[in-house]
Amino acid sequence: MGDGEWKRALRAPFPVPCPLFPVPAFPLYMTTVFIISAPSGSGKSTLVTRLMANVPGLMFSVSYTTRKPRGVEKEGENYCYVSREQFECMIGRGEFLEWAEVFGNYYGTHKGILEQAQGRGKDLVLDIDVQGARQLKEQISEAVTVFILAPSRQILEQRLRARGEDRDEVIQRRLREAAEEIRNYNQYDYVLINRDLTESDAILSAIVHAERVRRIRIEDQIQPILETFGFKEVLKDGR
Ligand code: ADP
Ligand code: 5GP
Repeated sequence: MGDGEWKRALRAPFPVPCPLFPVPAFPLYMTTVFIISAPSGSGKSTLVTRLMANVPGLMFSVSYTTRKPRGVEKEGENYCYVSREQFECMIGRGEFLEWAEVFGNYYGTHKGILEQAQGRGKDLVLDIDVQGARQLKEQISEAVTVFILAPSRQILEQRLRARGEDRDEVIQRRLREAAEEIRNYNQYDYVLINRDLTESDAILSAIVHAERVRRIRIEDQIQPILETFGFKEVLKDGR
């Protein structure tokens, strides 16, 4: 979007007319929200990318950020890139489900993304930090939260070095930040220790599949089956 378009977009009533998030007229689907957090270098991007490729019916939540695109990142695919001024305007207008300042940049999840997933009949995968996860869980208590942990500090350091993206001082800073973030592991429903990639893929997929068949999430599928057995009354309470 050009600057002029943004200024018009920010003056318009909710929802922000970001082309990514057209809000459907009728939400049709009870989207399950999967929140995934991890200290940098734990393998979160690798595992989330593989999850999206392996498990059907998922939609990745594209966040807004004020940081600049890195490497091969694409606008609208990895993030929607905006200026600090634009982001602050959006905060003021209450357009985020959650937002946080991470490493000096703003990151936020737009409210329209959940409605879009509902309209498309998809479950939503969010890659967000621990502050964002806390805010979202307060609003969507049934959201499923997963914390990814490298097997040790030494292995985290090896993975950061192997990735070859950061200078030594940045790696040392990431390791200090990891120690702080790890303290929050006990806010999460699941902790995935990312030892072997194939094993971690299987665990993450298993979490998604298991959460999708929680009784409460599939009542609408159960009731018609009960009706074929002649039950006329809804038996949700087991009687
Ligand atoms: P994050 O998104 O959490 O910062 P990445 O997905 O970029 O982390 O992973 C950091 C590095 O570790 C990458 O080079 C990735 O290929 C590697 N990696 C991820 N998971 C594993 C694993 N289970 N075993 C070995 N290397 C891994
Ligand atoms: P990166 O700049 O490496 O892509 O992301 C830095 C951190 O910001 C990661 O921990 C990532 O999970 C987090 N992040 C990405 N998008 C959001 C968001 O929308 N909200 C919050 N709270 N954190 C985010």
